[in-house]
Amino acid sequence: MAQATHYDVIIIGTGAGGGTLAYKLAASGKGILLLERGDYVPREKDNWDTKAVNLKGKYQTKEVWWDKDGKPLHPHTNYYVGGNTKFYGAALFRLRKEDFGEIKHYGGISPAWPISYEDMEPYYTQAEHLYQVHGLRGEDPTDPPASAPCPYPPISHEPRIQQLSDDFARLGLKPFHVPLGVMLDETNQQKSRCIRCDTCDGHPCLVDAKSDAQVVCVDPALEHPNVTLLTNAYVSRLETSTSGREVTKLIVQRNGGTEEYSANIVVVSCGAINSAALLLRSSNEKHPRGLATGSDVVGRHYMGHVNAVMLALSRCDNPTVFQKTLGVNDFYFGTKDWPYPMGHFSFVGKTDANTLASGAPAIVPNWTLDLMAKHSLDFWLTSEDLPEPNNRVTLNRNGEIVLSYEPNNLEGHLRLTEKLKSLLKHADCHEGLIPMNFFVGQGIPLAGVAHQNGTIRFGRDPKSSALDVNCKAYELDNLYVVGGSFFPSSGAVNPALTIIANALRVGDHLLERLG
Ligand SMILES: Cc1cc2nc3c(=O)[nH]c(=O)nc-3n(C[C@H](O)[C@H](O)[C@H](O)COP(=O)(O)OP(=O)(O)OC[C@H]3O[C@@H](n4cnc5c(N)ncnc54)[C@H](O)[C@@H]3O)c2cc1C
Ligand code: SF4
Repeated sequence: MAQATHYDVIIIGTGAGGGTLAYKLAASGKGILLLERGDYVPREKDNWDTKAVNLKGKYQTKEVWWDKDGKPLHPHTNYYVGGNTKFYGAALFRLRKEDFGEIKHYGGISPAWPISYEDMEPYYTQAEHLYQVHGLRGEDPTDPPASAPCPYPPISHEPRIQQLSDDFARLGLKPFHVPLGVMLDETNQQKSRCIRCDTCDGHPCLVDAKSDAQVVCVDPALEHPNVTLLTNAYVSRLETSTSGREVTKLIVQRNGGTEEYSANIVVVSCGAINSAALLLRSSNEKHPRGLATGSDVVGRHYMGHVNAVMLALSRCDNPTVFQKTLGVNDFYFGTKDWPYPMGHFSFVGKTDANTLASGAPAIVPNWTLDLMAKHSLDFWLTSEDLPEPNNRVTLNRNGEIVLSYEPNNLEGHLRLTEKLKSLLKHADCHEGLIPMNFFVGQGIPLAGVAHQNGTIRFGRDPKSSALDVNCKAYELDNLYVVGGSFFPSSGAVNPALTIIANALRVGDHLLERLG
């Protein structure tokens, strides 16, 4: 067994949380070790091949999890340097200001965060600069106040999407340009790093032009001699001192052997599900149910949003290449006729027959998947699910992940779906467009854990939360958790920018602590 090797800080996981934190701490000169279970995504043509990526799931983990009934789950998640940001659609939203307070939903209460939007605002601004967000502040009627404009102009709509945006505006909505982390310079196509392709959402970027955590954070952090990355380094367990107050050892499976590392500060950032699993797996005499589990919240309150893809099919085709530019938040907090939050709709990347085949949607009579894909507008609908203690991550007796989840708060989502259908039916379409005739809906199954969050929540009361406001475990002096776990409630916009902003916030706290 290798000798224990000591660092100032060890960060476990290199995704939106861990990768960003490494970037933030890198210039401090402190000894920082990044432990990442995956490798770099290989750069190869398959990165942009929908058959390899969507149909064959080439880059997805082959790990098997289990649902509450003991059925196997094949999670749609990715273990690589950069974490799931290598595959994300780079829609980088701030939570709404109101999301930080308590919100009454039709299905229950979305609890308040222990910090306010104003506490997070400076970090959202930093996050948008770091991840090169392209957007237009104030277009979205629910946009929270911001101290700076978006650093880059919005990504333009292609003609079909612009027509839809105009139609929505005519119907009284306020459609907006989705804030996106892609390095597209529309004023200088020759020099632009991003080439505006149709394989962005769900794919790694072959030309490193997506603002993912590897490209914008981990690679620059590694230019500092004090930062080290070990790939294929799976952290299987954390051990503590006999008092149970400090993590003293990290047990790592690497190159077929077991290695040990230690640090003054240990940060777990393995994604919401794996972070909870690691703490649960690290039970010992002082922490019999797992680390930081005194309040019994570790693993609980799992949220993943109520998500759906809806294809709206018409006879006219949709030749859009990069579809993810348009969003609508008019129903986010509800309407006069239904005063409860419904959520958000925007787009997924443009589908093709391979992508549709992977989700096996209902086939419209006389249409092939290829024809459907050529004619579809491919909407993404997100509504908030509420933190239920029994929606949770546990381990089975083999130490494997069990994800128990009952969807909740569905009424708002159903109403959002109906609103969208009705809008499309009534859209005053331009010449060449006909009103939408068919809708093919597809709820995202349990294995679709893209928006996982909430399993190790932060709060001001150690009786009901595992982490304090700095994301330090109440029960351990040197253990922090960043990444999607800390959310006490999830809003209804994509989570990554909030995870990134929070990592920068925790980074400031750690820099102060490290001196
Ligand atoms: C297809 C797809 C599209 C998405 N689109 C968007 C979008 O448009 N906008 C948005 O906001 N969000 C999007 N998301 C979600 C977004 O990617 C996540 O919210 C975000 O990456 C979560 O950050 P994280 O740090 O919590 O976890 P991750 O980014 O998943 O990083 C966790 C890291 O920890 C590593 N790890 C796990 N366990 C261990 C262990 N035991 N030892 C060592 N390393 C470990 C993993 O390999 C991984 O690298 C998308 C996700 C997917 C999959
Ligand atoms: S080139 Fe641009 S659109 Fe294509 S994957 Fe890369 S960032 Fe996305």
